[in-house]
Amino acid sequence: MSQPKHIAIIGAGIAGAACAAALTHAGHNVSLFEKSRGAGGRMSTRRGDGWQCDHGAQYFRARDPLFKAEVEAWERAGVVAPWGGRIAVVGTSTQPSPDAHLKRYVGTPTMTAPARHAARQANLLTSHTITKIACNDAGWQLSRAETGVLPTRFNGVIVATPAPQAVPLLAPVAPDLAALARQTEMLPCWALMLRYDTPVDLPFDGAFISEGPLGWVARDNSKPGRTGPETWLVHANARWSEDHIESTAEDVIAELQAAFMQLGAPAPNHASAHRWRYADVAPVSLPGYCWNPTLGLGVCGDWLNGGKVEGAWLSGHKLAEAIVLK
Ligand SMILES: Cc1cc2nc3c(=O)[nH]c(=O)nc-3n(C[C@H](O)[C@H](O)[C@H](O)COP(=O)(O)OP(=O)(O)OC[C@H]3O[C@@H](n4cnc5c(N)ncnc54)[C@H](O)[C@@H]3O)c2cc1C
Repeated sequence: MSQPKHIAIIGAGIAGAACAAALTHAGHNVSLFEKSRGAGGRMSTRRGDGWQCDHGAQYFRARDPLFKAEVEAWERAGVVAPWGGRIAVVGTSTQPSPDAHLKRYVGTPTMTAPARHAARQANLLTSHTITKIACNDAGWQLSRAETGVLPTRFNGVIVATPAPQAVPLLAPVAPDLAALARQTEMLPCWALMLRYDTPVDLPFDGAFISEGPLGWVARDNSKPGRTGPETWLVHANARWSEDHIESTAEDVIAELQAAFMQLGAPAPNHASAHRWRYADVAPVSLPGYCWNPTLGLGVCGDWLNGGKVEGAWLSGHKLAEAIVLK
């Protein structure tokens, strides 16, 4: 694609936003469609009256040189900062992580900040739920749940959603890519947000939990740039979340809050829950991203590249590089 093209990207998580930023930088005209009210996807922050809590991705590391350079640029732009929280392991001991020496980064002032920063470089269209993509001689056309078929024709389309949400978009136009997405198992996660009037006296700011229903807990207000009251995030582990995927929020709050209190925390002043149906990917080897230059159709996202924020960003960025080089 040496000539400037008009490309539609569906999904403004970090993968779609990274792809949009790189394509825009290369001179293409990018429309970035997002079904929710802003960019970020699973790099997400719940905000309420005077409080906030990252209830999706908790932090990320940078191993790949390309991603490291991007994170340094984000740090200079003030949209990420290292989190120096005290991290503990509760329960049976695990192997020390080979990445333990790497910094943990968070978006500032919220986890959404890096994706919003990247998405700003494209034409971001929020509250646009794309239900269908179709191609004919005039180009690609998109249908939107809210208003039906969009009048604009695109030279290319990129699907940057979680795998299960990519399947219905891809199935009519690229059955092979739909099959790849269909075979990807994504794991759920129940998240609990707990607010306190006074600081909680626990000897850590984040902890991996390997016993009972919990997987991870974090003192959200210990992350850089956060304001507001003492707020804790509690994630159930994948197995418990799967077993309780259809439970009510009330039941989930009761069980997870009790497990958190067993760690020594007091009862919170307020609790709310969020169910992530597609949080993480089961580890499988996939190609990182897909690009069909004949169709002008691409796919990116964490599910194609090992999961996690770094994998998602690299998937979107490398897809853009492949498109620019073709
Ligand atoms: C609970 C939880 C904890 C996590 N913890 C960590 C962690 O600590 N460290 C880490 O590195 N990673 C973590 N992750 C994973 C990390 O958040 C993801 O790997 C990464 O954010 C995925 O980015 P993405 O762009 O591929 O997908 P997403 O962030 O899911 O973005 C996809 C976007 O597509 C949009 N979309 C979907 N369908 C449509 C449609 N039809 N039309 C328009 N828009 C659509 C969605 O609204 C979404 O904004 C966690 C995730 C969760 C949920």
